[in-house]
Amino acid sequence: MKILSVNAGSSSLKFQMYEMPEEKVLISGVFERIGINNSLYTIKFNGEKISKNADLPSHKEAVKILVDELINYKVIHSLNEIKGIGHRIVQGADKFERSVVIDEEVTKTISELSSLAPLHNPAAVIGIKAFKEIIPEALAVAVFDTSFHQTMSEETYLYALPYNWYTDYQVRKYGAHGTSHKYVANRLSEIINKKDCKVIVCHLGNGGSITAVRNGKCVDTSMGFTPNAGIIMGTRCGDIDVSIVPYMMKKTNLTAEQLDNVINKQSGLLGISGVSSDSRDIEDGIKQGNERCILAQKMFIRKVVDYIAKYYVLLNGADAIAFTAGIGENSIDIRKEIIEKLAVLGIKLDVEKNNVRGKEQLITTADSKVPCYVIPTDEEVMIARDTYELIGK
Ligand code: AMP
Repeated sequence: MKILSVNAGSSSLKFQMYEMPEEKVLISGVFERIGINNSLYTIKFNGEKISKNADLPSHKEAVKILVDELINYKVIHSLNEIKGIGHRIVQGADKFERSVVIDEEVTKTISELSSLAPLHNPAAVIGIKAFKEIIPEALAVAVFDTSFHQTMSEETYLYALPYNWYTDYQVRKYGAHGTSHKYVANRLSEIINKKDCKVIVCHLGNGGSITAVRNGKCVDTSMGFTPNAGIIMGTRCGDIDVSIVPYMMKKTNLTAEQLDNVINKQSGLLGISGVSSDSRDIEDGIKQGNERCILAQKMFIRKVVDYIAKYYVLLNGADAIAFTAGIGENSIDIRKEIIEKLAVLGIKLDVEKNNVRGKEQLITTADSKVPCYVIPTDEEVMIARDTYELIGK
């Protein structure tokens, strides 16, 4: 059965087509600069990558081209072979505890949650509508980044703010990257061959979050009401004293929107280093002795270690720890420094094994009290799995 996994951004559309239940990727790609000039798309098929320019005034044209290319590459012969389309949705708030079949009501709720994810949810709705128009027969499924975190307890997800901020304005912790955390936590459980286990998942990418998982359920996560909480990220500051915000608004006359832009787009690794939000550039800067790059990386590592330690205590120990996403899967140095700072927990790095990028691997010694793994994340396959399951129902 053929299923499409879709991730629509405001000007982009990523897709991956699976043969299910084998979970075989048949074709994948991305449409970029939709609604902007110089639109283009890239398709990966049979180990080859092809980029083409195209006129993409809206997502609808992208979906039309996608369908034509699927037929052109003989991945499908007719549209009715596509049985399901799984859409990644960033914000489901407390409305969706699991993936659901999309109907008008679901689309309306996703749209209503736009104030909590102003960049992402409106784009997802555009994607849902475009696919519905071009491929109406396929079952559309919404897979939420927030669902996995819905198992957090009230004492965990509430902020110590006036209670009516929660009841009247939905201010609470929602978390993000849930699909990735769920995939990696499941993989860890399979690898260590223990169903009821306590694990800590470190999703370290341009955006980053850390999650404590017990028996497959999220207990706590570092992101909050928005993704700008928890660890330091590429351009986001993560946890700060919130009173800095009104203080700086008064000092600089920045509006709320401008300040929001500073804490989300000009802070984090970029803000401290003044060089880049990309950890590879920071590592290059460190090699050249750039003091601010050295500082940015130290601060990043410190914050990750803080969260691992905090979740280790929360879970009353851990059966395994995983590193995933761009930095977690690829940065040998950052993993090394994080793990070395966890020595007090009896965690011991295996330097040789840690010399790995983008591959599933144990990176601690046999006598390490807690095994640590690199586990490449796979959000797309989770979307395809949930879609396949809902088709079965
Ligand atoms: P993501 O958001 O998961 O795509 O991750 C992006 C981050 O991963 C950026 O900070 C990149 O610098 C980092 N990253 C990606 N590839 C590598 C690599 N080969 N070595 C070090 N960092 C990498």
